[in-house]
Amino acid sequence: MENIADYIEIAGIIKEKGGDNFKYCYQCGKCDVVCPWNKVRHFSMRKLVREASFGMSEIEGDDIWRCTTCGKCTMACPRDVKQVEAGIALRRIATEYGIFSGTANPVRAVRSGLQGEGNPFSEDRSKRGDWAEGLSVKPFTGDMEILYYPGCYLSYDPRLKKVAVATVSILNKAGVNFGILGARENCCGESVRKTGDEELFRHLAKENIKTFIDSGVKRILVSSPHCYHTFKNEYPEFMVHFEVVHIVQYLSELINNGKLVLSGAYAKKVTYHDPCYLGRHNGIYDEPRNILQKVTALELTEMAESKEDSFCCGGGGGRIWMDTPKGERFSDLRLEQAAGTGAEELVTSCPYCIANFEDSLLSRKDSESFRIKDITEIIQEVIS
Ligand code: SF4
Repeated sequence: MENIADYIEIAGIIKEKGGDNFKYCYQCGKCDVVCPWNKVRHFSMRKLVREASFGMSEIEGDDIWRCTTCGKCTMACPRDVKQVEAGIALRRIATEYGIFSGTANPVRAVRSGLQGEGNPFSEDRSKRGDWAEGLSVKPFTGDMEILYYPGCYLSYDPRLKKVAVATVSILNKAGVNFGILGARENCCGESVRKTGDEELFRHLAKENIKTFIDSGVKRILVSSPHCYHTFKNEYPEFMVHFEVVHIVQYLSELINNGKLVLSGAYAKKVTYHDPCYLGRHNGIYDEPRNILQKVTALELTEMAESKEDSFCCGGGGGRIWMDTPKGERFSDLRLEQAAGTGAEELVTSCPYCIANFEDSLLSRKDSESFRIKDITEIIQEVIS
């Protein structure tokens, strides 16, 4: 391309990429009212949709990389416009032309890590299962009840490895016959697809699907709502269907059938944050709350923006890898909301949320006393 500042005609291309129903938009602006960006800076989904409607858009700016795919606009739209899909279609075009704004630059390194090592951190693929060393976790075999798929963050990130360890401890306590794939596991591909790299997503998905089939996998337990969403709602595009269970659903199942007994007390006031890909995208709101309410002495309090109205942590849509300047981080606002309830801990069930919240906590005055927890870390403490 001679000049990327030129406008590119995109209507036909977006239609080809499945994001063409923006034409139903009548510019009411309800999407902008609910968009979390407008609590930290100006951003208009309505404007992006309008540009697409007229067949023109500037794609070299930061705006096409802003959407966290939180799904609030989709729920608010009276015309059922698929804003998230339209935004991803724009990113696919930018990807094809190799156009990345400053904000999106880190995506290049992430894609290279995913291509080479199957994870966004460019960590050694052969070390993917190292988090389980010393925990007596077996490699998955087809006669096992369930595959535990921890995903990239729980495999490599020092903070989130603790969640994988807590999960294994719970599964062992409940007598679950499970295994892991270790070095045979790849990133699920959810976030890189949202950044517009369809080809890399398909490559990762096909490799995972082959491994699942070759290993005799039928039921998959995941810790990340992003893996959950992808395996459950996107891998069927490849004509495969695995039963996918998120850890909050599995914990409910284990508690309800008596395999896990919550005998200990947890005398703390906590508030629960609904991850976008567990809540809005997949309708899972009750299980985590029901589990927490079963814990003796635990007091659960709600933030004003919860369930369908939950405020986004800022990590979806590949934003977890992009640079967000101080003052524009949704997770800072969410921690303020959580602390405002009088809670001592913010509990959630998503690695992106935890990574963002832990980062935001570092710059707070209450960083020594307030805690970010995955729900498994609480359950691990109260099971007998
Ligand atoms: Fe258009 Fe829907 Fe946004 Fe209204 S809410 S401006 S109809 S995309």
